[in-house]
Amino acid sequence: VLSEIYDVAVIGAGMFGSAAAKYLGKNGARVVIVGPSEPQDKKTADIQRAFGAYYDQARITRRLGWDEVWGATDSRSLNRFSDIEEESGIPFFFEQGSLVLMAKSIARRTNSILEQCRQKNIPIERLSAQDLASQFPYFSFPDLAEGSEGLYEKQMAGYLNPRKLVQAQLTIAQRNHVVLCRGTITGVQKDASDGLWRLHVMNHGDIKQIRARRVLATTGAFTNYNNILPSGCKLDISVFTEPNLMFEVSKEDIQRLHTMPAVVIVDPNDAGNENTSSYLVPPIEYPDGRTYIRIGSGMQPIVEQLFSLEDMRQWYIRQEINPPQYKFLYELLTALLPYIQPVSIRQASCIIEKTPSHYPYIGQVNDDSSYHVAVGGNGHGARGSDEIGKIAADMLLGNSWDFPKDRDVFAPRAISEEEHRNAERQKFKPPFGLC
Ligand SMILES: Cc1cc2nc3c(=O)[nH]c(=O)nc-3n(C[C@H](O)[C@H](O)[C@H](O)COP(=O)(O)OP(=O)(O)OC[C@H]3O[C@@H](n4cnc5c(N)ncnc54)[C@H](O)[C@@H]3O)c2cc1C
Repeated sequence: VLSEIYDVAVIGAGMFGSAAAKYLGKNGARVVIVGPSEPQDKKTADIQRAFGAYYDQARITRRLGWDEVWGATDSRSLNRFSDIEEESGIPFFFEQGSLVLMAKSIARRTNSILEQCRQKNIPIERLSAQDLASQFPYFSFPDLAEGSEGLYEKQMAGYLNPRKLVQAQLTIAQRNHVVLCRGTITGVQKDASDGLWRLHVMNHGDIKQIRARRVLATTGAFTNYNNILPSGCKLDISVFTEPNLMFEVSKEDIQRLHTMPAVVIVDPNDAGNENTSSYLVPPIEYPDGRTYIRIGSGMQPIVEQLFSLEDMRQWYIRQEINPPQYKFLYELLTALLPYIQPVSIRQASCIIEKTPSHYPYIGQVNDDSSYHVAVGGNGHGARGSDEIGKIAADMLLGNSWDFPKDRDVFAPRAISEEEHRNAERQKFKPPFGLC
């Protein structure tokens, strides 16, 4: 048992947790943040039961969107990126630009996005199919309903390195006296005798106990497992495979694609299982020293729901996508970039979690005000993670509300253990959304 009693124990040292711990520390709280470090080799990491969605080199980042809540989390975070880089000394943001491909059949929606961007001083170029062909000659874009057009955001958009952002947040947190404890939580209980939470931490066979007055769980897709939530409580969260294919790019192609922005292709009928949205990340160097383009599938029919901790663990450890996912992503990528000859091809499997509200859950999960969560990135939580962490810290500390939307939009939806068991058998495929 560690002797110190912390004001707050943050469970999960990922994107939301590291941001929240930083803000809690800056507010003067005595904080411990607990989470495993990234496994060196995911394929042999069989004791790990708590993988992170940030184990990668790039997450698309932009301010343009059609949702005001996500628009606010993303813009507020982006506006602070350069300060975070400066304060931590760790660069993580790359202003490579973002391109969103829209169908002309939803031009009314596109107009309203552009109007919102104009009001918020977010510069966007609206590109016709001809402009797209001349500015990005290496792409062969699909012809969306009634023709395609592009929304090109050059400034303060592109991608961030999520590993580096987490490292930057943890660096600042530690400078503000936050204690980082490596390990996986395997149980959380409140002791009625002293009102303190007791967290059981396991790290390579070593077991510790941490005591804290309040808990903030930021455990992403794994929140309903490992006895993290208060007893009898589960959250309405659905978990999905996020299959990726990575094409290694030759030196010549890196040169040819040096202006390539991050790309999202939006399905105009953005709904359910037939969704055809997808995204493409420009050439980026990976820790193996090679440079890859990465393609992901949005919520396409090939995306599968995962129903148990063991399903999630197996999917992560394998780091292999299934043959239909491979075929689909391979064909999509070669159709979009027909002149690229991959030097090699890699597969990557990640996980995203979705909430029925489409927003993160931030706040209490039951009537106990000493237990909060900040979870539910919905597949695009990286870019807004700094603001999400700030909201979570403000809520937990009872600070005044400083967000343009009502706090109810983030209200966690708890379900009983039985509802969770039933929900595990029901399929739920939400829209991809351009958030
Ligand atoms: C392939 C892919 C592409 C994506 N693309 C984008 C994008 O382009 N733009 C974007 O904005 N977002 C994107 N996202 C989403 C983004 O990465 C997530 O929304 C974000 O990482 C969520 O942060 P989080 O803190 O909730 O979860 P995570 O970053 O997963 O962090 C959760 C942490 O909790 C820890 N944890 C879990 N269980 C325990 C436990 N029992 N004890 C201790 N620690 C525990 C984990 O180890 C992990 O570190 C993408 C996600 C994936 C998978």
